Amino acid sequence: MIIAIDGPAASGKGTLARKIAKHLGLHYLDTGSLYRAVARDALSRGFRLDDTWAVVAMARSLDPASLDDAGLREPGIGEAASRVAGIPEVRAALLDYQRHFAARPPGTVLDGRDIGTVVCPDADVKMFVTATPEERARRRFLERQAAGVEMTYEDTLQLIRDRDARDAGRESAPMRRADDADLLDTTEMDIEAAFDAAVGLIKRKISQ
Ligand code: C5P
Repeated sequence: MIIAIDGPAASGKGTLARKIAKHLGLHYLDTGSLYRAVARDALSRGFRLDDTWAVVAMARSLDPASLDDAGLREPGIGEAASRVAGIPEVRAALLDYQRHFAARPPGTVLDGRDIGTVVCPDADVKMFVTATPEERARRRFLERQAAGVEMTYEDTLQLIRDRDARDAGRESAPMRRADDADLLDTTEMDIEAAFDAAVGLIKRKISQ
């Protein structure tokens, strides 16, 4: 069984995907961590993110063992990841790993931007998790505040809007709800309510 969960930054899809995988005993892959790791590797070796040749080389030689690095969640890496994610050769280099992972028994949950549309178009369950930009900015702002990162709510909202525009506007595998994906709007939900709604969607899909 493959469960594909897509959605914009700070929509809660990662927390939700991890919780669903644990609940159902499935393997979980945060595909955003692949793009974050490519950006990290390029920057740590002193390459510019617009140096396409170098960034593609980082994607081709990515070590999946390095995906647990806490540094991948640092502010700024998400934006850098979104820039390298626009390069078609980077996406192509990461596709095989994601598809192999998706096929692991007894089943998998993958979250990202293009899982239901490109990586696993035949997934058994597809969800597009979203929330208003204001609510996502509020969540991200509180998260950053708790981590001691200084940034205003307005700047956080602007970063969210810019990331949405970049992820949805790129030519290669843009962030998009698959035609057969269920929409889950978590604006008015806490994580427990979102989890209950997601499990409900999964049960309905599987019994069909
Ligand atoms: O989900 P996360 O915020 O960690 O993803 C970081 C960036 O990686 C996204 O903004 C997006 O540009 C890119 N990404 C992608 N396709 C995926 C997952 C992430 O393009 N499947």
